[in-house]
Amino acid sequence: MNAAIPLRAIQPQTEERIYVTQPHLAPLEEFLPYLQQIWDSKILTNGGPFHHQLEAALCEYLGVRHLALFSNGTLALVTALQALRITGEVITTPYSFVATAHSLLWNGIKPVFVDVEPHTLNLDPAKIEAAITPQTTAIMPVHCYGNPCEVEAIQKIADNYNLKIIYDAAHAFGVQTATGSVLEHGDLSVLSFHATKVFNTFEGGAIICQDAKTKQRIDHLKNFGHVDEVTVVAPGINGKMSEINAAFGLLQLQHIDEALARRKAIDATYRALLSDVPGIRCLPLGNQTAANHAYFPILVEPEYSMSRDALFQKLRDHEIWARRYFYPLISEFPMYRGLPSANRSNLPVAADASSKVLCLPIYPALSDSNIERIVSIVKGR
Ligand SMILES: *Cc1c(COP(=O)(O)O)cnc(C)c1O
Repeated sequence: MNAAIPLRAIQPQTEERIYVTQPHLAPLEEFLPYLQQIWDSKILTNGGPFHHQLEAALCEYLGVRHLALFSNGTLALVTALQALRITGEVITTPYSFVATAHSLLWNGIKPVFVDVEPHTLNLDPAKIEAAITPQTTAIMPVHCYGNPCEVEAIQKIADNYNLKIIYDAAHAFGVQTATGSVLEHGDLSVLSFHATKVFNTFEGGAIICQDAKTKQRIDHLKNFGHVDEVTVVAPGINGKMSEINAAFGLLQLQHIDEALARRKAIDATYRALLSDVPGIRCLPLGNQTAANHAYFPILVEPEYSMSRDALFQKLRDHEIWARRYFYPLISEFPMYRGLPSANRSNLPVAADASSKVLCLPIYPALSDSNIERIVSIVKGR
């Protein structure tokens, strides 16, 4: 009678599934007073009090002067390009999440891919100049895994050629270098507060800019171009963050330091446990004075006992859902691969990293025993 029950339904589930990340959520009861305030005020969006408070709190926490909240990071990237009126060609990295280049296509801009450098897997400043043409108007680098780009070298090139710089800083929440927040470099920086990121508002994002006038233009653009009831100054979009997301962000910010501390400890544990595994190379941290340990990328070298993809599958078989960030390269997707700069021979370092990288699970609730479970699989036991 029960012949149709699939085998897996009667097998005991022995191993807990571990995803590459898991959001760190403040206790639910702490969120209820915020919800009560929203229900009382009936202000749900359009730059309400929580929106205002979160912008101020993030400026303070991150050490930046001007920040505009968005409903997600991708719309923030699209709007950042609009805010600076970027056209023509933009130099960017193929080694990122696909939204980086998509934001260019949504603005009718041609991406020009430049290779990364091997230590941080960020855009290689030494290779930027050769990719500049009369159509180039900007550079869009990514602080990959939260490791800072070579901001001084990139700024020098931008100054020489009169180019704007928009950093995709989706991985770089809270990252500091000797000169302060990494988000204060270039013309604009864009954060993502997606559920999978270090600091999350379910969905969300922000643009960091350098002056009040630019902040005002961005605020207009994210609200349909409205300046007041009867004045529309630009073909804007709806990029506003709602009050519920902003309130949640304010609460999450109260718990961010404990989340970052646990990430730092997990990073150190992985590095110690994996240091003697032949063919497994942990990507070094960059020059940041405060890192956020958003990801834990390893490179699976030829000396390892199996291929990267075999290790990826072996982990999956044990319910460990590591991710190949970033494979495939953006330049390999159908809407990009026809570009001359997308040719693999133009991007050897990125192509090599993309074939070797595996991001291991890292998030505040990851237990030491689960770290040991992951490491023992990597060690081949
Ligand atoms: C997450 C991410 C984005 C997109 O942000 P969303 O908030 O998900 O729209 C853009 N770029 C990079 C590098 C990302 O990791």
